[in-house]
Amino acid sequence: MTTNEEAFDRARRVIPGGVNSPVRAYRSVGGAPRFLTSARGAYVTDVEGREYVDLVASWGPAILGHAHPEVVKAVQDAAGRGLSFGATTPAETELAELLIARLGGGTEAGGLVDEVRLVSTGTEATMTAIRLARGFTGRPLLIKFAGHYHGHSDGLLAEAGSGVATLALPASAGVPEPIAAQTLVLPYNDLDAVRTAFEAHPGDIAAVIVEAAAANMGVVAPLPGFNAGLTELAHEFGALVILDEVLTGFRVSAQGYWGLETSYTPDLVTFGKVIGGGMPLAALGGRREVMEHLAPVGPVYQAGTLSGNPLSVAAGLATLRLADGAVYDRLYHVSETLQREVSAALTAEGVAHTIQRAGNLFSVLFAEQPAVNYAQVQAQDAYRFGPFFHAMLEQGVALPPSVFEAWFVTAAHDDEAIERVVEALPMAARAAAQ
Ligand code: PLP
Repeated sequence: MTTNEEAFDRARRVIPGGVNSPVRAYRSVGGAPRFLTSARGAYVTDVEGREYVDLVASWGPAILGHAHPEVVKAVQDAAGRGLSFGATTPAETELAELLIARLGGGTEAGGLVDEVRLVSTGTEATMTAIRLARGFTGRPLLIKFAGHYHGHSDGLLAEAGSGVATLALPASAGVPEPIAAQTLVLPYNDLDAVRTAFEAHPGDIAAVIVEAAAANMGVVAPLPGFNAGLTELAHEFGALVILDEVLTGFRVSAQGYWGLETSYTPDLVTFGKVIGGGMPLAALGGRREVMEHLAPVGPVYQAGTLSGNPLSVAAGLATLRLADGAVYDRLYHVSETLQREVSAALTAEGVAHTIQRAGNLFSVLFAEQPAVNYAQVQAQDAYRFGPFFHAMLEQGVALPPSVFEAWFVTAAHDDEAIERVVEALPMAARAAAQ
């Protein structure tokens, strides 16, 4: 039998860090990552044959649980008809229609989007949305918020400069300074900072990109009225709003986080994760006037060999058709039960914590007071998470391997899976207390 350590050693010889996406390397919690061989329902299995209750859910897509039989069958059927055509398919149109219908049936009807373009990753979706916003407005600059993640395109790997109106610095080697300097990085949940930035750069800001609810620094919900106020401000200064629902879309409600608020209309919206049901698929959508600036209708270029891939579209269609009210009820039930139990276990051990939540997304912040921005998230007792994580893992519960990640539940987390998590909590809370 191969152990996880052996699998990691072997991987590290041929793959940088042994992983194809950094968080998988367990750097922030230590130890060898679990090398997974299969997943079903609420569980994943590693190379050692150990089974874990999974609270990663492939970082969001698996709202129905892993390998849902009807989703797998849809993909198998599609595969039998050809893996990729590099041509238009009726199924792409069906998926676009389904997305638009779910999101309120077009902007004239009070809905969110009129048209969508399918791409393969969330990174591509946000990258394209930003290019489109620049092409539409003819302006160069972008506002993003500290701690928000929108994928790894150059202009988004930017860190705040010295003040809210100053241009950003590269957050990764390899990002040229002039590219990072096209971005302004502002504190989240601070509309005054947004106004200051707009006033300092009149006529130059093309768009504000914002996670519909931040969930890549742990969960940090927008304060009531923040998304609406942001949209109002951006429009006052002639800029677009790109609402990033890659993580929240079709997970926190049938209409994403926007569906929980609906008090504003962003100009562009990005989706990913759930809409591909676990296959590589993402999308950007918006009102027709903006979307028709995309090639081949308009002058903003975007393309993709595998865009609208038939297997991904089949998985997405099957997933969304199965995601009915009962699925969302279950996601909320599982999430709320776990929030309560995690908090009770930590309280019993006297560990200062706050459950941060947005819809059915949540994470544990090791601090007394809730956090509303990245600086506050960074100030927590993050060192408590590693021992907590490993105690859970030892007992067969796989959490996201970083305190700065959301916990993801699925509708396949039945009462037995919940019970297994609950039973593991006292020991993990004791580990966190030390
Ligand atoms: N936007 C958000 C809000 C995300 O959470 C992510 C990924 O986690 C992305 C964009 C990038 O998506 P992808 O990893 O598919 O490129």
